[in-house]
Amino acid sequence: MTTLPISVSTNKKTDLLALSLPQLQQWLVERGEAAFRAKQIYQWLYKQLVSDFAAMSNLPQALRQRLTNEATLGPLIVRSEQHSKDDRTRKILLELADGKLIESVLMLYPALGESSARATVCVSSQAGCAYGCTFCATGQMGFDRHLSAGEIVAQVLYFARELRAAPWTAAGLPGSNAIDHITNIVLMGMGEPLHNYDNVLQALRILNSPDGFNLGARHMTVSTVGLVPAIRKLSQEHLQVNLAISLHAPTDELRGQTMPVNRKYPIAELIAACQDYIAATGRQVTFEYVLLSGVNDTPSHAHLLGELLAPLKQFAHVNCIPVNATSAGYRPPGPDAIRTFRAILQEHNVSNSVRAERGDDIAAACGQLRTRFENRQSQS
Ligand code: SAH
Ligand code: SF4
Repeated sequence: MTTLPISVSTNKKTDLLALSLPQLQQWLVERGEAAFRAKQIYQWLYKQLVSDFAAMSNLPQALRQRLTNEATLGPLIVRSEQHSKDDRTRKILLELADGKLIESVLMLYPALGESSARATVCVSSQAGCAYGCTFCATGQMGFDRHLSAGEIVAQVLYFARELRAAPWTAAGLPGSNAIDHITNIVLMGMGEPLHNYDNVLQALRILNSPDGFNLGARHMTVSTVGLVPAIRKLSQEHLQVNLAISLHAPTDELRGQTMPVNRKYPIAELIAACQDYIAATGRQVTFEYVLLSGVNDTPSHAHLLGELLAPLKQFAHVNCIPVNATSAGYRPPGPDAIRTFRAILQEHNVSNSVRAERGDDIAAACGQLRTRFENRQSQS
């Protein structure tokens, strides 16, 4: 096993949520503590979901005190929490230690037919984003900084604790089972996860740890604007996470207008990277397609998209997402246009679905809550 470097500075506490189990063991051993304490701490953090060292009752008092002095557990301040009227969407605005603001969303789905209930956390990977997609509220803010692995893990733990304390049952569905734990995470909050590659992968590995949170990699989705070298790197990680590509246009001309990144990584290169990813992993890739009325949603766009993805056969799936209105003035298409668009994809044998809109009453599209919050602050 390789020795993992841990930055230890004298005046700065170590965020334990940023450490894998071997790193935590090493951190303890460096301080003359027993390595086996790491597993105990991991259990407290990720199985008991405690948020305080004092609660770790099987640790010696001296160690608890030392942890309090030298370590933290992702200090995040919740600046606001909003629940949609049906309580299926909850959104928090978090303030990080340096005052930066990020958002996380919990989406709750009742059991439906064969599938059991789900609780999905939509996690932010950066404060702001460098990629400037024109329809995205986060993109319009610009880039502040990468989040640490601990800041990513902490978002998931916040909602995990909330659900543990108060399991959720869908209102109006008597008899449906309550759900008390997180079943999925998607990196679809603020920021571009593959731009913050190392910290994102570290966070996913921590959440995946069988000694800790134990969330299966197949229940995790990384969504990317299409950073080709990082997609190729991800294909070599032997991590069974789901990959979603924000495609949003079938031609370079159109994609370049809404997604500046396309000038660096044009569609042909992106699709080639996806084909190599599929060959290396044997996994399906989801292509996200935000439908912008009158911009990328016509039947001819649907045909071009179908032709582009048909060669990927059953390994491509298109998720159509009617745009959430942002300040940019885009509108979602009506139900007829969406139906026609999907039927054309079907003609090309490209599997597809449509994302149900949710949480509109709490501004659930990425970056919108922070934008509203900051506008309010600047008005007051
Ligand atoms: N940066 C990554 C992940 C964060 S965005 C990415 O771009 O994939 C997550 C998803 O939300 C992306 O598919 C993004 O294109 C989409 N999105 C951004 N703004 C949106 C809006 N206003 N309405 C609907 N989806 C939006
Ligand atoms: Fe960044 Fe993704 Fe928003 Fe584009 S859609 S600006 S990559 S967060």
